[in-house]
Amino acid sequence: MAKLTVQDLDVRGKRVFLRVDYNVPMEEKEGKMVINDVTRIVETLPTLKLLIEKGGKLILTAHLGRPKGKREPSMSLAPVAVKLGELLGKPVAFATDCIGEVAEAAVAALQDGEVLLLENVRYYNEEEANDPAFAEKLAKVADVYVNDAFGAAHRAHASTAGVAAIVAARGGKCAAGLLMDRELKFLGDELENPARPFVVILGGAKVSDKIKVIDRLLEKADTILIGGAMAYTFKLANGVKTGKSLVEPDQTATALSAEAKAKKLGVNFQLPTDTIIATPVDTGKLNKKGKPVYDLVNVRTISGDIPDDAEGFSIGEETAKHYAQIISSAKTVLWNGPMGMFEDPRFAGGTNAVALAVVEATQNNGAVSIIGGGDSVKAINKAKLGDKVTFMSTGGGASLEFLEGTELPGVAALSDK
Ligand code: AMP
Repeated sequence: MAKLTVQDLDVRGKRVFLRVDYNVPMEEKEGKMVINDVTRIVETLPTLKLLIEKGGKLILTAHLGRPKGKREPSMSLAPVAVKLGELLGKPVAFATDCIGEVAEAAVAALQDGEVLLLENVRYYNEEEANDPAFAEKLAKVADVYVNDAFGAAHRAHASTAGVAAIVAARGGKCAAGLLMDRELKFLGDELENPARPFVVILGGAKVSDKIKVIDRLLEKADTILIGGAMAYTFKLANGVKTGKSLVEPDQTATALSAEAKAKKLGVNFQLPTDTIIATPVDTGKLNKKGKPVYDLVNVRTISGDIPDDAEGFSIGEETAKHYAQIISSAKTVLWNGPMGMFEDPRFAGGTNAVALAVVEATQNNGAVSIIGGGDSVKAINKAKLGDKVTFMSTGGGASLEFLEGTELPGVAALSDK
């Protein structure tokens, strides 16, 4: 059922407890923590501006990093409050604690349309434990609950689920922010009855991570294109040699049953016909994590068996062209997971070709293109094509779970329309 959104709310004079995703990358420079990428903050501005315009008193809560219940100074949200103030063009107050007297006093000082950011909610272990007493303390300052942190919605934490339940039990409204609403629209509604042909592109490292998504989308898609290391487990299941490629031998039966399901449902299920391989050579060095560093030499494209000493790193050019052709006639495209180890330019060609094909389908064929979060978003941004697709999810794990058809705790907690 459709969820209530901030557009439906009357918040004038009310205390709006707003969960945002400000888990931004930070770095220490000259003794100060600086924000490396403000995207997540910028993305919340439309929701904030709407609620400010509507006259709410905004109490923002977020987590940063994994402080594991300790007041870790490098994970303070104080620099985020400053940056948010700059981006919003109005002062943003900051409370050095997310609960208790400090937070309550800061909230009491808020006028209609003013904004307050509470300190890192994960300074308390009770947040991730969804501790009821902690949720009560957070909820003390909440008349209305809004969640705009889709990336954290797959977790039943105090700030994503507990507070909402308390507000709802008091008869208060719990609504999706504009960002969250778009996620529900594109990852949910759009894929319920997609315009056809509906082409799903799935890649990334592991079959086991994506099998539930594959299983569900087999019931909806016209075509599924498989790439990334995941493809090698499918190849292995079909008796092809995979050399040193990243495979999951315990997932071969799962892979075969997905292929059988595709056949039964008449889904065009495609595996790569060629692959870019390289031979790893041990350098004798260790990386920061203590793992051996390999040079990848003799990069070449093959079809068929991968030699014992070689490893597959991407779909080949022939596959990329074939996939691009299929994508070009799509009316709905969903893409999750890169087609290879795109971080290395030698193996980025297939992922980039698919990214370009998705953009072209969007622009030339009027396709709705949905990039389902995580590394595919990174890949499309790296190719500087981020603004040329219909929608890019802000979630990683949350997007996957949502695509699996799982009801996310942070979404379930919101009021129905
Ligand atoms: P995932 O999180 O499952 O979407 O996996 C994304 C990661 O898988 C990226 O960091 C890619 O570099 C990596 N990846 C994709 N294809 C391959 C491959 N053929 N071999 C090794 N790593 C790969």
